[in-house]
Amino acid sequence: MNINIILARLPRRVHAMTKLNEDDTYTILLDANLSREQAIKELLHELSHIKGNDFSSETQATLLEGMVRQSNFISDGFEDINFYYHVV
Ligand SMILES: [Zn+2]
Repeated sequence: MNINIILARLPRRVHAMTKLNEDDTYTILLDANLSREQAIKELLHELSHIKGNDFSSETQATLLEGMVRQSNFISDGFEDINFYYHVV
């Protein structure tokens, strides 16, 4: 799995966004103004969506948000992911 991480200026109050690309890679946009700790937190949150296959799920977004936030997310299990960092 390939994931592009892009640090960029995002709209106000948006800390991170994830997009499934046509070639089955993912792009995670992170707000460039976040602190390192916040950026990691947001990144792990977005990764938990990807790992949970939320982008192909028909479960309501708000329900998914609650499930992701409640789950004890463990930050291992990413050996199969290649990360590519970009700053724009
Ligand atoms: Zn979320």
